[in-house]
Amino acid sequence: MRASRYLLSTVKETPADAVIDSHKLMIRAGLVRQLASGLYSWLPTGRRVLSKVEKIIREELDRAGAQEVLMPTVQPAELWQESGRIDQMEGQMLRIKDRHDRDFVYGPTHEEVITDIARNELKSYKQLPINLYQIQTKFRDEFRPRFGVMRSREFIMKDGYSFHVDQQSLSEEYDNMYQAYSRIFQRLGLDFRAVLADTGAMGGKASHEFQVLADSGEDFIAYAVGGSYAANIEQAEALMPAGERAAPSQEMTLVDTPDAKTIDQLVEQFNLPIEKTVKTLIVEASEDSEHELIALIIRGDHELNELKAEKLAQVKAPLTMADEAAIKQIIGAAPGSLGPVALKVPFIVDRAVTLMSDFGAGANIDGKHYFNINWDRDVALGEVADLRNVVAGDPSPDGVGTLDIVKGIEVGHIFQLGDKYAKALNANVLDQAGKASTMLMGCYGIGVTRIVAAAIEQNFDENGIKWPGAIAPFHVGIVPLNAHKSPQVMEVAEKLYQELQDAGFDVLLDDRDKKTSPGVKFADMELIGIPHRLVVSDRGLENGMIEYKARNEADKVEIALSEAISHIK
Ligand code: ATP
Ligand code: MG
Ligand code: MG
Ligand code: MG
Repeated sequence: MRASRYLLSTVKETPADAVIDSHKLMIRAGLVRQLASGLYSWLPTGRRVLSKVEKIIREELDRAGAQEVLMPTVQPAELWQESGRIDQMEGQMLRIKDRHDRDFVYGPTHEEVITDIARNELKSYKQLPINLYQIQTKFRDEFRPRFGVMRSREFIMKDGYSFHVDQQSLSEEYDNMYQAYSRIFQRLGLDFRAVLADTGAMGGKASHEFQVLADSGEDFIAYAVGGSYAANIEQAEALMPAGERAAPSQEMTLVDTPDAKTIDQLVEQFNLPIEKTVKTLIVEASEDSEHELIALIIRGDHELNELKAEKLAQVKAPLTMADEAAIKQIIGAAPGSLGPVALKVPFIVDRAVTLMSDFGAGANIDGKHYFNINWDRDVALGEVADLRNVVAGDPSPDGVGTLDIVKGIEVGHIFQLGDKYAKALNANVLDQAGKASTMLMGCYGIGVTRIVAAAIEQNFDENGIKWPGAIAPFHVGIVPLNAHKSPQVMEVAEKLYQELQDAGFDVLLDDRDKKTSPGVKFADMELIGIPHRLVVSDRGLENGMIEYKARNEADKVEIALSEAISHIK
């Protein structure tokens, strides 16, 4: 690629809403541009990285025996009624009507569609096991899109689904995918952990998340130092025997007045680790009685919270009608209000933990349960330090090593779904005995666009991105110095450009004219994170030398022109 013709789009300014480094750098390096909240266009440099991530994923999945398919992003709503998930996913679903007034959704995930394919195409156990995947755009109307493509509304996911005649086959394929995922994240050059996870809204039994370790991550991971146990925080907390969980430290004072001041006082009194500006619902429980009073502190806009409160009422069977009514009344009492409200609800404390995993978010800090009913886990859990105080140094649930807590970015998630979707959609095959048998299913997701941001979070410095070689937009950058004055410099640079490409490298030749200074060219290459840089100058060529600099090293070195290619290899 020639820089003179390339849409480099590097900028100096970072947008005000960019708080984490990867978001800032993706804008500055010209990888993405925001179209609207949670919607991003990928410019050429970003697209190059994305394509490389996709290529590695495809290679490893194909190697593991999975087959690529492509399913529509727009899905008939009936399919979601059939699976029974339409209400559960309501908050995140983009609903669409066609010209005939028929209901569709823009797919947030594809279990329903793939199960429909399976029930039509698979007839016999002889066709199983089978593993089908796609790399496709999803839309989830995230409560709080943020951090650029890390939590966007439209994003690209690799989603795969396997079908089986029995549990043993499902377990084997689950292990196969676990291994394939490990290879994928290794090849991507990421520092990651596979952690035990809850199954959340997907349902099913076994589940692991693949978490890239980064302080900017939204998830907390508990892992055993000196052992092999690793789990996301909800899972680790839920597995701990009740006696090991931290005892409640404070009595809760209940308020039922929608008074912002009272809420703030509560927040202060109990030192609740929430960001005050965040629209968050907090449930606080103390552990000493079965039916304990709990305050729900609801911040945020009316519509979302109504939905959440309804979900809360749905999930907790022990809640009486009166409680449900109370929730609704409170919600109704603050229509459109952005102010916080508080509410008393009888609650079985142990269910707090269950609820946490039902909704996929939560933590137990000092015996107080914090979680966000928003099932996208967008929860303010406080500082790592708070969690460390409670969990870290408890022995590991499997008894080997002691727990520590770090933050992570969820880049992959695998589940053993069992018969959940196959049963709901009636997806059967004939088994060996000739009997109709419900298929068992596994599902396997990777956040393809999120990986690009996660890779940057682990690889940058003050000058810009430092791509792992496997996903760099270009492997080599060539800067000809004062080319406008020296035909020889340009000639050598052109020759290098050709030879490097012939050797299989992606090369950016910075042939921009003298209006772009060498300093700017160097800065751009550092910013977009090209791993190898070659500078061709008259002075060097006098001795048959060029200058080489690796992006992750401070010093430049002189190398012989004739050795340029072998040096980079
Ligand atoms: P999160 O907990 O971050 O909301 P999730 O558990 O809802 O993610 P899954 O349903 O497990 O997501 O989807 C598979 C993968 O898709 C995730 O592991 C993540 O990498 C990616 N992903 C999910 N939501 C988003 C999003 N809003 N933006 C970018 N990537 C996402
Ligand atoms: Mg989510
Ligand atoms: Mg998750
Ligand atoms: Mg997940």
